[in-house]
Amino acid sequence: MIKDALFWEKHGDKVRCFLCPHNCIIADGQYGLCSVRTNMKGTLKTINYGEITAMAIDPIEKKPLRHFYPGSYILSVGSFGCNFSCGFCQNYSIAHYRAKSRYFSPEELEAECISLDRNIGIAFTYNEPSIWYEYVYDTSKLIKEKHKDLKIVLVTNGFIEEEPLSKILPYVDGMNIDLKSFREDYYKKICGGDLKHVLKTIERCYDKCHIEITTLLVSDLNDSIEEVEDIASYLAGLDKNIPLHLSRYFPNYKFYNPPTDINVMQRAKEVASKYLNYVHLGNV
Ligand code: SF4
Repeated sequence: MIKDALFWEKHGDKVRCFLCPHNCIIADGQYGLCSVRTNMKGTLKTINYGEITAMAIDPIEKKPLRHFYPGSYILSVGSFGCNFSCGFCQNYSIAHYRAKSRYFSPEELEAECISLDRNIGIAFTYNEPSIWYEYVYDTSKLIKEKHKDLKIVLVTNGFIEEEPLSKILPYVDGMNIDLKSFREDYYKKICGGDLKHVLKTIERCYDKCHIEITTLLVSDLNDSIEEVEDIASYLAGLDKNIPLHLSRYFPNYKFYNPPTDINVMQRAKEVASKYLNYVHLGNV
């Protein structure tokens, strides 16, 4: 569904979106980098409001969240669109293409959520939750105001401006935030984003809701022990109890590097564990 977008302003005869730090300036009829926010005759619109491309009831550990209601299940939904362009994306068919979708109003998703046994809430995942912000915000607010016990989870790349993040945080219980690297050039070249904004998101969230961090270790790109140590010591500086998931890379989408060496994964865990109380390996 097409809806008025939040977080934009007129910029001459164009519009400037400030939902994420790309701050796209968009001419009439054009889209931002995420391909889902468009200037329609001088007004910024979002085209993926309520458009669900994937829905499943998943174990919470699959998000991954290992220290947030362990053993529970959560209704997991995603739309299409992303503000990053990671060459190894695991979900590229929905992140970067307009996948087939079905519209659910916030009330319909709420009804789905409460109809499921043993479901603790909703996880916005599969594509970047901030990229269908208006829907994620409306649904999260509706659910938290009506069902205090249900949980809202975001699985995010953390690339969002402060104002939209602050607006939604009161309705969020848990987040898994990707920290894809500790190097600015990796973020710029491989992901089309930047490190400093992701670090700001982590710093703004870690004491407001439950967070866990995931780093995909890509062979020969960001799997050096030095970089793992940088990530772990940075997180420990915030809170040694922030769980870190070190996830093993496998070739995907546009990336053909071999899978990350299992010995490198184990060594990375040992090193990170010198700083942090909870380090988990994924995809091993
Ligand atoms: S949300 Fe989309 S349109 Fe807005 S700044 Fe980010 S990439 Fe650009």
